[in-house]
Amino acid sequence: RPAAGAVPPARVDDLAPVLPVVGADTLVPLVDGREAPYANLDVAASAPALEAVAAHVARVLPLYASVHRGAGYLSQVSTALYEQSRATIGAFVGARADDVVVVTRNTTDALNLLAGAVPADPLTGRPGRVLVLDIEHHANLLPWQRSADATVLAGRGSIAATLDALRAELTDAAAAQAPYALVALTGASNVTGEALPVADVVAAAHAAGARVALDGAQLVPHRAFSLAHSGVDYVALSGHKAYAPYGAGALVGRRDWLDAAPAYLAGGGAVRRVRVYETTWLDGPARHEAGSPNVIGAVALAAAARALRGVDPEALRTHESALRARLVAGLEAIDRVRVVRVWDDAVDPVGVVTFTVAGYDPGLVAAYLSAEHGIGVRDGRFCAHPLLGRLGFDAGAVRASVGVGTPGSDVERLIAAVRALVADGP
Ligand code: PLP
Repeated sequence: RPAAGAVPPARVDDLAPVLPVVGADTLVPLVDGREAPYANLDVAASAPALEAVAAHVARVLPLYASVHRGAGYLSQVSTALYEQSRATIGAFVGARADDVVVVTRNTTDALNLLAGAVPADPLTGRPGRVLVLDIEHHANLLPWQRSADATVLAGRGSIAATLDALRAELTDAAAAQAPYALVALTGASNVTGEALPVADVVAAAHAAGARVALDGAQLVPHRAFSLAHSGVDYVALSGHKAYAPYGAGALVGRRDWLDAAPAYLAGGGAVRRVRVYETTWLDGPARHEAGSPNVIGAVALAAAARALRGVDPEALRTHESALRARLVAGLEAIDRVRVVRVWDDAVDPVGVVTFTVAGYDPGLVAAYLSAEHGIGVRDGRFCAHPLLGRLGFDAGAVRASVGVGTPGSDVERLIAAVRALVADGP
C-alpha cells in the first residue's frame, strides 16, 4: 500500500510506451459490433514482440541455413548468429566468464533441465534437497517435486518474517546434516509482481552451503539483473515474456552441475563419440541441446535483450512502476475490488496486479473486459495454485500486467471499465 500520507498516483493517460512493440494499433471486435484498439494488459503471460526484434528477425530470416555442422557459407552465418545470440543472452543476465548458457524452449524447460542437474547428497546418495516457497509458479515447483527432494516453505505475512523462516530452515537443515543443495525462488511473482530481496536470499543460502536458482521469467524483462553482481547461481528465462516470439528461453549458470548432469535430451549434437552401445557426451551447452536448435528463437531473444539493455533501466522501471501504482490505486478506489498481495512490505514489485471484484466471477470479469472494452487480461489461478489457495483465492482472480510497450491510456481504460462494471451492479 502507498505509505501513509503519500500522494496517490495521478492519472497516467499521457505515459507513452518506452519501446515500441508490434501490433500496438490492432483493432479487435467488441460484442456490440464496434471495434476498439486492443489494450494488451496480459504482458506477463506473453509480451508482444518489440519492433526492433521483428525487424531483426526479418533481416536474419534470409540467412537461415543448417546450423553447426553445415559447411556452406550461410551455415557458417547461421552458426555464428546462434553462438553470438548465446553470448548476448549471457551478457543480458550478467553471466560470469565460466557460466554456461543453455538455450531452452522456455523457463519451464530451463528449470526442468536444472532439476535433473541437482547433485545427489554425497553422504546418502538421495536426491539433492531443494527449498522453494509456496508462492512459486508451477514451473518452479513441479520440476523439484518430481526430480529432487523438495521442501515447500509457506510464505509469511511479511518479507522480513519470510526471510527469517527461510534462514531458519536453511540453518536447521545444515545443523541436522541434511543441508539444502539449492534454493529455487522467483525473481518476481507472476501473481503479484512481488519478490524476496535477492541479496538476502543469496547470503542466507550461500552461508548454509546452498546454491540459488532464480526463476527470472517475470524479472529479467523488467529489471536490470546480473548473475555476477547478485551472486545468484542460476537464472531461467523465457523469450516470449521478454518481447521476443515464442519458442526460446535460457538457463544460465554454474558449469559444474550442468557438465556433471545427464544430457537433458539424448540425440545428435550433444555427443563427442557414439558407439552402438556407448556414448561420450559433450560438456558445456551442447550437452543439453541435442537436436537442431531454435536459431531464430535465440536470435530473437538476443535482439530483445539488446533492445532492453539499450534503454536506461531506470526508465523501464519508472514507467512500469508508475503504471502499476496507478493500477493498484485506481482499482482499490473501486468498491468491491480487492488487490492480491503476498506481503505487506514488498519493495519495487514488477508490473503485475491481480484482483477480484466481489460478486463477480473472475472469468466473467475477464470476458466482459474483452468483449465490451477490447481489453486483454488473464483470469484463473495463474499456474500458482498453492499461493492462490493459501491467500484464499481458490476461485481464481483477474490479472492485469504491463510492460515497456504499455501506454498509460490502456491502464486508464481498465480502471474505467471495472468502475463501470461495478457501477452497473451484478
Ligand atoms: N515462472 C514464472 C514466474 C512465470 O510467470 C511463468 C509463466 O507464466 C513461468 C515460470 C513459465 O514460463 P514458460 O511458460 O515460458 O515456461
